[in-house]
Amino acid sequence: MRPEILFPLFAPATGLPGIGPKVAKQVEKLAGSRIIDLLWHLPRGVIDRRFSPKVAEAPCGPVVTLTLRVESHMPARDKRSPYRVLCSDDTGFLYLVFFHARRDYLERLLPIGTTRVVSGRLEAFRDEIRMPHPDHVVSPEQADSIRRVEPVYPMTAGLSPKTLAKAIGTALERAPVLPEWLEPAFQARRGWDPWLTALKAAHAPDGEAALLPTAKARERLAYDELLANQLALTLIRARQRARPGRAITGDGSLRRMVLDALPFSLTGSQQTALDEILSDMALPVRMLRLLQGDVGSGKTVVAVLAMLTAVECGGQAALMAPTELLARQHHATIAPVVRAAGIEAALLTGRDRAAERRKVLGGLGDGSIGIVVGTHALFQESVQFSDLMLAVIDEQHRFGVHQRLDLAAKGRGVDMLVMTATPIPRTLMLTAYGDLESSRLTERPAGRKPVVTRAMPLSRLDEVVDAVARASGTGARVYWVCPLVAESEVSDLAAAEERFAALSARLGDRVALVHGQMKAASKDAAMQRFADGDVSVLVATTVVEVGIDVPEATVMVIEHAERFGLAQLHQLRGRVGRGDRASTCLLLYGQPLGETARARLEVMRETDDGFRIAEEDLRLRGAGELLGVRQSGLPAFRLADLAAHAELLAVARDDAKLILDRDPTLQSPRGKALRVLLYLFERDAAAVTLRSG
Ligand code: ADP
Ligand code: MG
Repeated sequence: MRPEILFPLFAPATGLPGIGPKVAKQVEKLAGSRIIDLLWHLPRGVIDRRFSPKVAEAPCGPVVTLTLRVESHMPARDKRSPYRVLCSDDTGFLYLVFFHARRDYLERLLPIGTTRVVSGRLEAFRDEIRMPHPDHVVSPEQADSIRRVEPVYPMTAGLSPKTLAKAIGTALERAPVLPEWLEPAFQARRGWDPWLTALKAAHAPDGEAALLPTAKARERLAYDELLANQLALTLIRARQRARPGRAITGDGSLRRMVLDALPFSLTGSQQTALDEILSDMALPVRMLRLLQGDVGSGKTVVAVLAMLTAVECGGQAALMAPTELLARQHHATIAPVVRAAGIEAALLTGRDRAAERRKVLGGLGDGSIGIVVGTHALFQESVQFSDLMLAVIDEQHRFGVHQRLDLAAKGRGVDMLVMTATPIPRTLMLTAYGDLESSRLTERPAGRKPVVTRAMPLSRLDEVVDAVARASGTGARVYWVCPLVAESEVSDLAAAEERFAALSARLGDRVALVHGQMKAASKDAAMQRFADGDVSVLVATTVVEVGIDVPEATVMVIEHAERFGLAQLHQLRGRVGRGDRASTCLLLYGQPLGETARARLEVMRETDDGFRIAEEDLRLRGAGELLGVRQSGLPAFRLADLAAHAELLAVARDDAKLILDRDPTLQSPRGKALRVLLYLFERDAAAVTLRSG
């Protein structure tokens, strides 16, 4: 249970002054619905109001704070002209200018003959100096209420910056002093303030430098978040280790038959990965290993050989895929492979016919089925294994930690192998899995040709369409991925539909469209038509996992490639070049091309090493912005910036280990403070693994 001291932070933000139901909706969209969400919403800029020149010296452009005498009011002559208030100091005159202003309001705000402190930007209009809509107008006595350096928060349309700043101010007042969870000597060495002081400082930047991830206050908060993350992972891992695993070593008989039947031999890195997996399985602890490798690098074969080892021991193995289509595809490749060893692989998805399903459930229950491939249907309650030894999870971006654990609960001490085609940079891996073992497939299987990658401006779209039409005429299969439009799935779709219409006008019914708003069944049907060759061009939005394996596809066109993250571009490009024919990837970019975007396209042209691409992506964009992070189940950080705080992450990992070595159930005073930290960052699931006390 969440400690009481945190209750005020997890209260709804609607309780705050100025946050009624309507504003609450905008605040929720922007930051979240609770007070804590406002506290984590840090400024991204500052307005420096310290410059206070005389009127004669005040430049147009920058923000100035002026002390002025109110001379006269000049109400608007008509709807379109502004209400002007003439003001002065000893050196000159200027006008405060208001459009659509209420006269009585302005007369109260700026009584003639009084002195007012105003802050805003000046501009020249005809022969007048004007300040349109000052940000602040106060009496000299209230001058201190204008913050000299004002934080600027990330905003959303319809929410006023003042309302937000005020709400955050109140939220800060309500934030409690929390027990210190940092080790005192470490904290002193870093020069970090206590949590609440740091939080307040982060919301009160005294200049641009205070916004940098390296500013002390920001570092402290980021460290707290990373420590909570690492502590949670270490706790969960410790619990997993505490439950006994089983030593699984097969006699190699089934593996031998399959290897003999394969038309190829394993690459060096496949062999290494397999050895690593088998020696993990042979240990009496539960395996949790990641198998990383680009699409097409041959993970499936490795997984199958590991699964056969479980069967050799008289146990069962399950492979879980994120979608029905992928499950079917895996089954279609795996079934003939294991048949060489005399084994029938079963398939279990949510859409099986009742009789079929009963048969599979029966076989899993009595152990007559050794290998099953399926979707998350595999961990439904009705599914009982006779003796599940190995669970392989083909992650392809979709599953969270919980689902992984669910499948493990289907057996005793189940070994886990997680396959991912997303090359995850080391830092990200640490935050997602902690110290998880990983095997990497770095070689491409023999015979595969590298994909020729070209970048060209969208202005040459016509040429590309011509080329696609020609290729389609010769039977080529083409993926055409449509741009990701900022945050809006709707406009995403519109762009894809438009491209689909244009290509259809040219190619007739040889084009199909898939997008995220289609029903799964019709999506699958469209992709199947592409896989079968009934259509030659598949137009897709990126919300669609272009996860099907179509070895015949040789062209990948990506529109507005500059809007994609590197990892995503790499993932998309991996869809072609899977067969033995030469393949092309065309990256169409809009102009002007920003520096980062240019660098990204350059990396794509230079290399097809997924691990290098992943590291570059992290470096160029920062983890928070990595596209796909949200879908990936990788944790999103609110305060830490993994590109900037990689060093802190390593420290947090060591810190977490040391803490739990000394105080495994967090009973010491520091341990108790760390429990608060876990709840503060909502690692409740990890916190509950601790016995109360
Ligand atoms: P992944 O699951 O990593 O995307 P797959 O396991 O589906 O990759 O392998 C892609 C293709 O490469 C499959 O057709 C597979 O049979 C083939 N393949 C796997 N390993 C090798 C190898 N060592 N040599 C040649 N082809 C291989
Ligand atoms: Mg695969």
